[in-house]
Amino acid sequence: TPRVFSGIQPSGGLTLGNYLGAIKRFVDMQGEEFETVYCMVDLHAITAKFLEPETLRKNTRELCAGFIASGIDPEKSILINQSQVPEHAQLGWIFNCVARMGWMQRMTQFKDKAGKNAQNQSLGLFAYPALMAADILIYHATHVPVGEDQKQHVELTRDIAAKFNHDYGVDFFPMAEPVIEGAATRVMSLRDGSKKMSKSDPSDASRINMTDDADAIAKKIRKAKTDPDALPSEAKGLEERPEARNLVNIYAALSEQSVDQVLAEVGGKQFGEFKPMLAELAVDKLAPISSEMARLMNEQDEIDRILTRGAERAREITAPILRQTYDIVGMVPPV
Ligand code: ATP
Ligand code: MG
Repeated sequence: TPRVFSGIQPSGGLTLGNYLGAIKRFVDMQGEEFETVYCMVDLHAITAKFLEPETLRKNTRELCAGFIASGIDPEKSILINQSQVPEHAQLGWIFNCVARMGWMQRMTQFKDKAGKNAQNQSLGLFAYPALMAADILIYHATHVPVGEDQKQHVELTRDIAAKFNHDYGVDFFPMAEPVIEGAATRVMSLRDGSKKMSKSDPSDASRINMTDDADAIAKKIRKAKTDPDALPSEAKGLEERPEARNLVNIYAALSEQSVDQVLAEVGGKQFGEFKPMLAELAVDKLAPISSEMARLMNEQDEIDRILTRGAERAREITAPILRQTYDIVGMVPPV
């Protein structure tokens, strides 16, 4: 069975972008067709800004609760915390020695996150995509459901796999494909239609958090930046209207319709009418998840047991792949 791997950073609370672009897709891929591994990538979460240890721990457990509340079944999927499966970081080191500086310098996520201040970023933020390649390839995963922003990193994963295979003359690591589907592969900030919604954006008004209550969701949508025109009746009328397109995409993804179906219903309406419809839909879909998350957060021992068990299952896959990798590279094994 082909294997699916994907991860989310416990760098903050989950957003609607994470839910629509990633977690909802993770749930869709769970089943007979694939073996699914989903990860809280805590080693990635410490690459950007300093996180208080208690915050990182809380974020990781809350992320786990978010996965489960959204429909990831820890029996059907392997649900893990990255740092509990040490082979991720071990293969990550090997990949640091395969990836080239020039490749990493082309990564737009580093440029976006570093801004004008590249010299003061951690080495880990620069090396992030090599560790991400290891996260995927330590499972020999071939399918990687991600939002649009991670496409470049999955392509780099293929470059790393190809160079490793070529350098050592093996056919060992598979070529991983990004799986980017649905109406909301790139949910934009509610305050700026040119920036993606992110859990680490300093502005809370820019995003909908999975833990926001109904009033907060309604208020953020009401205040979301838009243009003054009515909604068009066809998707091509949204081309030059990023903020309008974003809200329609969110509506389409939440209601599991195409953009054209949504516009057939709401075309001609003003935002004053559309925004409350969107807020109601978002609350309808998110409230059950956030209340289940809150319940699970009171069962911290249960969450910790799920992650421990997930790591045991994961290591049955990752330990042999790391051993074979070390053998290919020429490390002397213990006797
Ligand atoms: P950070 O700001 O710390 O990078 P993030 O919100 O970008 O956080 P990540 O943990 O980096 O979240 O990404 C987890 C998954 O969510 C990835 O698959 C990513 O592509 C997806 N994702 C993140 N933001 C969006 C978005 N705005 N729209 C769609 N998918 C998204
Ligand atoms: Mg991100």
